[in-house]
Amino acid sequence: MTNDTSGDVRLSGISKTYGSFTAVHPLDLTVPQGSFFALLGASGCGKTTTLRMIAGLEEPSSGTVHLGEQDVTALPPYKRPVNTVFQSYALFPHLDIFENVAFGLRRRGIKSVKKQVEEMLDLVQLGEQARKKPHQLSGGQQQRVAVARALINHPKVLLLDEPLGALDLKLRRQMQLELKRIQTEVGITFIHVTHDQEEAMTMADTVAVMNAGRVEQLGSPNDLYENPSTTFVANFLGTSNFIEAEVDSKSGDDIVLKAGGGKLVLPESRCGAPTTTGGKVLVGVRPEKISLTHADEAGEIPEGRNRITGRIADSSFIGVSTQYVVDSPVCPEFEVYAQNIDRDARLVPGADVVLHWNPAHTFGLDAAQS
Ligand code: ATP
Repeated sequence: MTNDTSGDVRLSGISKTYGSFTAVHPLDLTVPQGSFFALLGASGCGKTTTLRMIAGLEEPSSGTVHLGEQDVTALPPYKRPVNTVFQSYALFPHLDIFENVAFGLRRRGIKSVKKQVEEMLDLVQLGEQARKKPHQLSGGQQQRVAVARALINHPKVLLLDEPLGALDLKLRRQMQLELKRIQTEVGITFIHVTHDQEEAMTMADTVAVMNAGRVEQLGSPNDLYENPSTTFVANFLGTSNFIEAEVDSKSGDDIVLKAGGGKLVLPESRCGAPTTTGGKVLVGVRPEKISLTHADEAGEIPEGRNRITGRIADSSFIGVSTQYVVDSPVCPEFEVYAQNIDRDARLVPGADVVLHWNPAHTFGLDAAQS
């Protein structure tokens, strides 16, 4: 751990309005020095606008931007210790790779650039390509040149605006790991904008999920997946089943809920809803946490598991698992998806089944706010 806070990014009440439209509602956010932070959300949710306000490319309608201790709100982009990598690499086509990377140093009047440029090209593993022109490189290599060019002046913060959006899936996956490695090596703050939840989860240590100009939830990828605080976050990061339930009683650290004619157990620590008797809770459980047992064998299900009954409506084999659609009386408006690795020949459409899972894998949302 380091006590260096010069790469902290602190947004205090920043917002952006265009006429009567609010692209970003007042936002408070602190990104600690050295973290790999992702702004994740669907198109139009305000993530690029937020990034551009950090870069100084967009003037906030209210609020302040601090980098370390310095209030940079009024500073133009080039005076901020920040650089940005865009989806379009924007390399200079007539310059070779070496000169593209050297550009920022030369512009500052630095004459002996060789050592620094070579170090930077080694960092992005393009030392061998120094004398090629951008068009002679692959998309992934060109994006690495753009990263090297953005890092050459040692910014405190690197902003990445959908940098992998133009790459095909395989290359994108490689570049995700590559960017993560580069960030670990240089140790500066990376703020990465993406609409791809898998990308954010793979790369970032902290993710802010944005929706309609607001941060809906902030946390580690694991936190967001295991403990989403809204249905939007639960659905944006994967798939979730939801069951409408009502608080019945408490039992130790657990809440007992009524759902249909049955009962479900939810650890109180995983409940984001009021836990007073009669309170409405939306119970969520991820499809891969659910097991399916044929109704004839329900007696073999271990004690202590949440269970609901249902009837298989559909099943499809998708390689590593089988995906089932199950109709259940406790969630008449939803179908339940379950993945069952042990393929049981009797788990076919029309079969009566019991869906069961460990209560620790349940999360509870406030039904009134979801
Ligand atoms: P995308 O992934 O599509 O880039 P985003 O989440 O980055 O989306 P922003 O580019 O931040 O979204 O835009 C947020 C909202 O603000 C959008 O509805 C957009 O149309 C609007 N917006 C952005 N720039 C302007 C502008 N200059 N004038 C008016 N509206 C704008």
